[in-house]
Amino acid sequence: MHEISIVRNVFETLQETYPDKFERITKVQIEAGLLSNIQPILIQNAFEALIMEEPQLADIELEVLLLPIIAHCAACDKDFEVKRHKFVCDCGTPSKNIVQGEELQISRIEFLEN
Ligand SMILES: [Zn+2]
Repeated sequence: MHEISIVRNVFETLQETYPDKFERITKVQIEAGLLSNIQPILIQNAFEALIMEEPQLADIELEVLLLPIIAHCAACDKDFEVKRHKFVCDCGTPSKNIVQGEELQISRIEFLEN
């Protein structure tokens, strides 16, 4: 399953990045561009499955934010939001110059304070 490897990868990355603080993570936020084909509900399901394997993750809240697709129009030199896979600027110029929408990244981590 695609999503389980994504979730596994996120927590492996966090474990490597914060070996001393990993146990104090309370919340992880992931940003996923709409072009990455990430579905938040499937990510949550995958996370639930991972918790079965690694119960220490049960205290962590996982949030997935979907980012709209943004492309750049060379004719007007501005960015526009791509809706319904219509890669055409308001001015009528087609553009596939994507500036946002393909990313999948950890955008925020919260730790237990003490
Ligand atoms: Zn334009």
